[in-house]
Amino acid sequence: MGKQKNLSLEMMERVIIDLKLDQDYRKIKGSLLRCPGNNMNGVKNLDIRMAPKKENVTTQANSQKRGNLQNVSKIIAVSSCKGGVGKSTIALNLTFSLQKLGFKVGIFDADVYGPSLPTLIGKEKQQLYAPEDKPKEILPIEFNGVKTMSYGYASGNQKAIIRGPMVSSIVVQLVQQTQWQDLDYLVVDMPPGTGDIQISLCQELNFNGAIIVTTPQRLSFIDVVKGIEMFDVLKVPTLSVVENMAEYVCPNCNHLHRPFGPGYINLLQKQFGIATALSIPLYGDISKYSDLGSPVVLTLPEDHTINYIYRKLANNVVNELNRTDLNKSPTVRYDTTKRVIIIKDFEGKEKSIKSLELRSKCNCALCVDEFTGKRLNQNQKFDQEVFPQKIEPKGNYAVAIVWSDGHRSSIYPYKRMWSEEINEHQS
Ligand code: ADP
Repeated sequence: MGKQKNLSLEMMERVIIDLKLDQDYRKIKGSLLRCPGNNMNGVKNLDIRMAPKKENVTTQANSQKRGNLQNVSKIIAVSSCKGGVGKSTIALNLTFSLQKLGFKVGIFDADVYGPSLPTLIGKEKQQLYAPEDKPKEILPIEFNGVKTMSYGYASGNQKAIIRGPMVSSIVVQLVQQTQWQDLDYLVVDMPPGTGDIQISLCQELNFNGAIIVTTPQRLSFIDVVKGIEMFDVLKVPTLSVVENMAEYVCPNCNHLHRPFGPGYINLLQKQFGIATALSIPLYGDISKYSDLGSPVVLTLPEDHTINYIYRKLANNVVNELNRTDLNKSPTVRYDTTKRVIIIKDFEGKEKSIKSLELRSKCNCALCVDEFTGKRLNQNQKFDQEVFPQKIEPKGNYAVAIVWSDGHRSSIYPYKRMWSEEINEHQS
C-alpha cells in the first residue's frame, strides 16, 4: 500500500485493499474508511481486508520465536469479543478438564488489563520467582499440578496502565520467559476483543486452534462471526464455540429456562458447520466456586452436568486438534465456462452445483427465520443467471458467497454442500 503512488480510483466500482496485519492495521483501516467521499469518487464498494498471514515461516524460525514454548505441543486460544462473558472461567475449567484426560497442561492469562487467573485459583498474594541458574526466566505457579502464569502475579492483580503495542510485547515476553517445560497443551486466556493485541498474540504464539466464548444475544452472535473471521485470516482454526449462560435450571421448579430465548448455538452449527459448538448453563456454583478460588470442575462431583459438559469440550478440543485434515478445507470455485460452482475435497472428489440452486437454498437470517426455521425466500423471484462474485472460506467448515444479485450474507457449511439437500448439477 505505502509504495502505491497516483492510485486512480475514478470509475472503479469495487476496490479491495489488503492491509498488512500489524500494530497500525486498525488505525490505517479507520483513516481509509473515513476518507472523504471526493477522494473515493465512483467507488461503490470499498473492501478493506487483513492481508492473509504469510506461510513461509520455517519450523526452525518458529521454534526460535517460541522461546520457552518450544516444548509445548499445542497452544489453544480461548477468546471472546467482550469481557464478562465467562471466558476466563471457561479457559480455567477447560485446562483442568484436559488435565483429567491425562495431559500435561498449563494456563496463561494474557489479559494484562484485567488478570483474573490469580483470583480464580486463590493465588492473589502470589509472588514471582526466577530460577537460580536462569535469572531472566520465570517459574510458573503450580496449582493442582497445572502450571499457571498471569500478569496479575507480577502486578499484585492491579490493572495495568500501559497501553497499546507495549501490552503485546509484555505479554509475549511473559509467556516466553515462563519455564513451562514439557506440556501437551497450553491454554491461553486471551484479552477480550479482536484488536491489535489479540492479532499480535496470534502471530507471536502461533496458536494451534481457538475456542470462541459467547453469550446468547444477537449482538454476541455477530461478535462470534468477527472472532471467526480474525482467526481465519490468521490461519488459526476455530475448534469450538461455547455459548455461556444461555440457560439455567431453576432451583425451585427444576425446569430448564432460557431467559434470552433460544440463543444462537443451532445457528452457529447450521450456518458455520461448527459441530463442536456447545452450551454451558448459568449455574450459581460456577461463580460461587470461582470467587472462592476453587475451579468448579475440581469441586463438583465427576458425574455433575457441568463436569460432563467440560469433559465434552476438552474431548472436542483434543479430537479436533488430532484431525489430520484440520487445516485442509475443500476448495469451492465458480467455473465460468460451465457456469457451475464446484466443490472439491482434498482427495479429489467433486460435486457441481448450479448457482441458482445454491443461491435459492441460502440459510442466512434474511432467507430463513432464525428461530422457526421457516424459509423466508420461498416466493422470491431469483435472477436465473445469478452467479457468485466472491467466494471465501469462513472458519474451517464453511464458505461465504457474495452473489451477483447483491445478496452478501450467504454462508454454506461444506458438509451441507455435499449433502443431498443441495442437488448436484447433472450436465
Ligand atoms: P470474562 O473472562 O469473559 O471477563 P469471567 O470468566 O471472569 O468472564 O466471568 C465473569 C463472571 O461470570 C464471573 O463472576 C464468573 O464466576 C461468572 N460466570 C462465568 N460463567 C458462569 C456460568 N456458566 N454460570 C454462572 N456464573 C458464571
